[in-house]
Amino acid sequence: MSSSLCNSKSNRLKGKVAIITGGARGIGAAAARLFALHGAHVTVADILDDEGPALCTKIGARYMHCDVSLESDVAATVRSTVAQHGCLDIMFNNAGIAGQLGSITHLNSKLMQNLLSVNLCGPVYGIKHAAQAMIKGRVQGSIVCTASSAALMGGLGSHAYTMSKEAVVGIVRSAACELGVHGIRVNCVSPHGVASDMLVGAYREILGREDLGAEAVDRVVAESGSLLKGRSATPEDVANAALFLASDESGFVTGHNLVVDGGFTSACNTMS
Ligand code: NAD
Repeated sequence: MSSSLCNSKSNRLKGKVAIITGGARGIGAAAARLFALHGAHVTVADILDDEGPALCTKIGARYMHCDVSLESDVAATVRSTVAQHGCLDIMFNNAGIAGQLGSITHLNSKLMQNLLSVNLCGPVYGIKHAAQAMIKGRVQGSIVCTASSAALMGGLGSHAYTMSKEAVVGIVRSAACELGVHGIRVNCVSPHGVASDMLVGAYREILGREDLGAEAVDRVVAESGSLLKGRSATPEDVANAALFLASDESGFVTGHNLVVDGGFTSACNTMS
């Protein structure tokens, strides 16, 4: 566990019940560790049935197999978490994939559907079933989704991914409009440049370098034009932003897209 996580222990989610999709590794795993450290009862929902349970054993969380592209899996995860803990306070819809990169001239419906089923339908099912449970349980909960810097700018060859993440910001805003009357907040985080398995895979594909590891991707990202020179993002940078949105500290924040990109998108805008 990183020292930045240890130093910030203060029970900011004490007793809250949270589901984190895509929580077995990367940003989701950092959030699972952080939320548990801050006193939440965490359910990690993922399709990685080795990594997920192993992480949960370490941090005292619960694992559920959940393919977010299947509404029945998401509904079952919410139902089972409420049955276990009595309510649901926090839904972090974080699971996502990079999908296949390529030219717009080769984009086809199968490629789009694969990607949208995880990156867009996943968060939509998560918002829907979390909202139902929160409304039924009269819980003034917090729903957080992971969008991306790609929601703010074009990405060469990542058309379906970019579409999916812009759509996540859209559904977050429209759900926030509807659910505010119930006291339910809906926000998203937009990371950039965490050298996770997903990003390393994407860079391998872009650069045609199967040998590329997380350290090399870290370096590429650190040098790629964010305002904070010399470093890339860590999973904990994003998890800390999600913690803020999940906690009561952001009690008057809804419909917001919290960008965690070291200034990357601002830097590009000032250059244009
Ligand atoms: P990652 O690959 O380390 O983690 C993604 C997690 O989602 C994995 O645990 C994976 O098993 C899970 N997952 C994938 N498909 C799933 C499915 N159908 N059902 C349930 N779980 C599924 O990558 P990450 O970078 O930690 O990605 C987390 C989120 O952050 C994603 O939504 C991604 O798009 C977003 N994001 C990441 C970056 C970055 O720089 N890494 C930038 C912007 C946005």
